Amino acid sequence: MQTTYKFRLYPTGEQEQKLLWTLNKCRYVYNFLLSEMNQQKVIDKAQLQEMIVDLKRIEPDLKNVHSKVLQYENYRLFSNLRALSQTKKMGRKVGSMRFKGKNWFKTFSYNQSGFAVMQNRTRYDKLWLSKIGEIPFIMHRDIEGKIKQITIKHHPSGKWYASIIAETKTEIPETKNKEKVGLDLGTMNYVYDSDGNHSDNPKHLDKSLGKLQKGQRRLSRKRKGSQNRNKQRISVARVHEKIINQRDDFLHKLSRYYVDKYGFIAVEDLQIKNMVRNCHLAKSISDASWSKFIQMLEFKAERAGVRVVKVEPRGTTQICSSCGIKVHKELWNRTHKCTCGLEINRDYNSAMNILKRALGQELSKSTPVEIEPLLSNEQVWSEKQETPCESYG
Ligand SMILES: [Zn+2]
Repeated sequence: MQTTYKFRLYPTGEQEQKLLWTLNKCRYVYNFLLSEMNQQKVIDKAQLQEMIVDLKRIEPDLKNVHSKVLQYENYRLFSNLRALSQTKKMGRKVGSMRFKGKNWFKTFSYNQSGFAVMQNRTRYDKLWLSKIGEIPFIMHRDIEGKIKQITIKHHPSGKWYASIIAETKTEIPETKNKEKVGLDLGTMNYVYDSDGNHSDNPKHLDKSLGKLQKGQRRLSRKRKGSQNRNKQRISVARVHEKIINQRDDFLHKLSRYYVDKYGFIAVEDLQIKNMVRNCHLAKSISDASWSKFIQMLEFKAERAGVRVVKVEPRGTTQICSSCGIKVHKELWNRTHKCTCGLEINRDYNSAMNILKRALGQELSKSTPVEIEPLLSNEQVWSEKQETPCESYG
């Protein structure tokens, strides 16, 4: 079983220079291999692999990049080629492979060797990367199993991240539980499921959220740079931390409930769902908690042999889950009332649509498309959504 872990890296100034330099060299090698490939009559992967060795002889400073990291560029090239030919097969018009400009090259990867994770008892743990050094990071989650690959990514924000893929030997068989459920994630009822059950934000969490709002208002009235403002900022930060803990506790219990009860769970794909960027702190926490909930659900499900299927969320609220026609609703309409006679809670209706969609998606999957490993790794990167709009740290 494979698990991907994502950690923020805190390189020193010198390490950052090396990271940027490596990124640039990898891009250079990628573009070199692409131009060589374009000249090949018959595309030969092994021959290109050997060219990296030749290139190193001509340009000795490439020896300052771990050899597997350079080899990975050949893999990346062929991976992109495969993805491109797949798109072509699907009948879409595509151009030829492009040389990568600076802004299009943000990652490099260590495969199988050239890295080590060192857990410390001090503030920072260390990620050792061959030819770069020991980069400080905080290991907020233990890595289980053997590390197969580490991808270093430079975010547009300037931050650096490591995506670590680890493999554990235990293969978990698919559960025999045939029960299926669809989940609608909302703000009124935290979750409404297709069996008609719902669960709300726990009361104590609501209370803390109210407290946070009050604290924030008080903070905004304090004079900038004053001692009082500083005190208030710390107090708000504490409430915030408490809320995150309370919320995580709630989400752990909720995800456990669904993974124990069902063998197939359908949820909305939040990456597609257009989440309005909200500067309201309480709201931003609840938004972030959706993706956190799905993360927890997937993590537990994978270990229990339970399937989690994500569906396109658009239209799930409006469509009637019984007859399929569109029933327009405003945000405040809490009931779905259709001419076919169906009259149920709005979120209940969505949950049933989500389940239906997932089952339909599974059926259409009978012609499997080869999963392209590089792209699936790339998907790991999503912006961290937990950052509130006003910082008080
Ligand atoms: Zn209907």
